[in-house]
Amino acid sequence: MTPLDTPLDGALRLTAKQKTVLNRIGILTVRDLLWHFPARHEHFSAPKQITDITEGEHASIEGVITRISMKKLFRRRIPLVEMHVRDQSGEIKAIWFNQPYIAKTILKGTQIKLAGQVYANKKEYYFTNPIHSLGEEKTVTAMPIYPEVRGLSSRWFFAQIRKLLPFAHNAIDPIPDRVRIAYNLPPLARALREIHQPTTSRWAEAARKRFAFEEIFFIQLHRARMRRTLEEHPSFHIPQNIVLAKRLTSSLPFPLTNAQKKVAWHIIQDLGRPHPMARLLEGDVGSGKTLVAVIAALSAADARYQVAYMAPTEILARQHFETFMRLLAPFSIPMGLITSAEYKKFPSKINPATATHIARSQLLKWVRSGETRILIGTHALIQKEVAFKNLALVIVDEQHRFGVQQRAQLVMQSSASIPHLLSMTATPIPRTLALTIYGDLDLSLLDEMPPGRKKPITKIVPPQKRTEAYAFIRRIIEEGGQAFVICPKISSEPPSLASAAGYEPERAWCPDEYRGERGRGLSLRSLGAAKKARKQTGRFFNSSPEIKSVEEEYKKLKETVFPDLEIAMLHGKLKPKEKEKIINDFRSKKTHILVSTSVIEVGVDIPNASVIMIEGADRFGLATLHQFRGRVGRAGQQAYCFVFTDSRSAKTRARLEALVKAKNGFELAEYDLLQRGPGELSGKTQWGISDLGMEALKNIKMVEAAREEAKKLLEEDRELKKYPLLKERIEKMEQMVMHFE
Ligand code: ADP
Ligand code: MG
Repeated sequence: MTPLDTPLDGALRLTAKQKTVLNRIGILTVRDLLWHFPARHEHFSAPKQITDITEGEHASIEGVITRISMKKLFRRRIPLVEMHVRDQSGEIKAIWFNQPYIAKTILKGTQIKLAGQVYANKKEYYFTNPIHSLGEEKTVTAMPIYPEVRGLSSRWFFAQIRKLLPFAHNAIDPIPDRVRIAYNLPPLARALREIHQPTTSRWAEAARKRFAFEEIFFIQLHRARMRRTLEEHPSFHIPQNIVLAKRLTSSLPFPLTNAQKKVAWHIIQDLGRPHPMARLLEGDVGSGKTLVAVIAALSAADARYQVAYMAPTEILARQHFETFMRLLAPFSIPMGLITSAEYKKFPSKINPATATHIARSQLLKWVRSGETRILIGTHALIQKEVAFKNLALVIVDEQHRFGVQQRAQLVMQSSASIPHLLSMTATPIPRTLALTIYGDLDLSLLDEMPPGRKKPITKIVPPQKRTEAYAFIRRIIEEGGQAFVICPKISSEPPSLASAAGYEPERAWCPDEYRGERGRGLSLRSLGAAKKARKQTGRFFNSSPEIKSVEEEYKKLKETVFPDLEIAMLHGKLKPKEKEKIINDFRSKKTHILVSTSVIEVGVDIPNASVIMIEGADRFGLATLHQFRGRVGRAGQQAYCFVFTDSRSAKTRARLEALVKAKNGFELAEYDLLQRGPGELSGKTQWGISDLGMEALKNIKMVEAAREEAKKLLEEDRELKKYPLLKERIEKMEQMVMHFE
């Protein structure tokens, strides 16, 4: 144990509440807190005269506080601190939301430095949430801004971490010197100090770069080791059976694309090897991944092994179950469907051409005995009670929707032999991300669409053209087509504050965001005017009636826009049976329009649908929008995607334009990664990568360097004997993955 492993208790005085919060985000030791990095740095530049600053610039000023006060805003009681600061030239106002301690700890008459973006309200300039530095912090040139965590402010983290900095002296660098020097990265002790308390902006940058490299380097090492372990492990030998695959493909109404043929062939070869396959199949929406999975599953099932096929939603699991039943009908392979609410078995005893509902325990028994050879399901598949007899192939559909741990879990569940893994995704991820998080997987691309596919026509529709869009949809339906209408939420009932999970009022209230969304500045006067302001709060709290809901849109379309058409609605709160009926009715063309939430985001295959209308498009990420668009035109007809938004923000506009212009999902993914700022990348939940690490992924050179070095290091010292610290860190990462099982 090194001093860095000291429990926080031993180094800081913390209240029970602070401890709970830290605990929850996994900060237990001095090391954990020292590795809690700022999301960014705000810099104090040379102070300007107050009268010299202009709207929109990032400025620093220095002066004396002439007034300071706090009030609570509106019903939500958001604390607002107001401060006036004067220098020889003039006076300026600064406001802070949700930082009441500023008013509690800083006195009128104090000398203060402020830095931040300058806003204007009718020629009156002001700062919003600027950083500040008082006399005693004179040495600070850049202020680290930490992600706020449940009431623990950036300032609080800053103060605590500063107390821990002496521990940094003793920190031994796990990165081998050779690597560190080759990439000009500062040594650990210095980097720790500089990231939390930079002496200059350049040092702050260098420190960030170092930790970004460190994270990617560790992940690369970890993946490379996993890969080696996998390569040594035995797996199930599934004999190549070309005749079987031919029999399947010749029963299809269309030939395989060349890409499908090539990938299927690779997979069949992989399955014949004595070591587990670990392959990621990446193909844009509609490229025909399911069929490749069916071919792989058939090979394994025919050899009397078991296959698990995991899909992210119940709707999708059921759809796959039906596709499998249809395509594999001539092969009489017993199959099962398992979701959290539904258990089915195929073939049914009474009617062997169909499936039948059975009890969960019954299904699990069949799975355990090996009778059920292909089990399709949702997360329900990875519950402890689901035990297989000889699980040889795991297929994960839309794998980006699952956490790293869930994927690991499916593969690790079994005993001595590790099953083959086929992971599929349509979310094209940028190359840097792929190289990092899938460093242990072989990559296959379905880079060819089935013939005759037309690129969907995407349009951002301004409000005044809404009626035209409806008229267009009507024409499409009259010609036999069908349409989706997507809304961001289910009902218009305002969610309670507690349910607005992950919501950060402070960010939402930042004028930056506000300007962005509404195209004009946040007026201070209107902030005072409670009525108006409440309306604004409403927007941010998602309770505004302007955000379209499935229930309202359904009602509107049914009663006023298309009273003569069949319309249905779909969302996650419906019972599985209801969902099934709605989807089936839509598939069999009984309904013309399906109003839905994002439950249909991935995978849902309704070949006849040709229009998708997306309401509140600014509320969805680009990848999601692209997925939505992939729901239409799947039978080769011309498809249309109409995008609606109330947002007038230039940023949102640009994002949606990217959706219109991008040739494919890959372009979109790259765009998304580059455009998003820190904190907007959901790296942590999705890939287990911190915001800092995600930043590094914008830099292909850094990622390639980290990968190269990781590979070299393992070649030279497989067990990391010469690098005990490194080994320890990597093993910790491995334990983390296991821990989640
Ligand atoms: P995704 O890759 O998005 O999962 P799917 O596997 O759902 O795509 O396939 C999309 C549609 O394309 C399905 O309706 C499927 O039957 C059809 N399809 C798959 N392969 C071909 C092919 N080679 N030729 C024509 N249509 C195909
Ligand atoms: Mg799919």
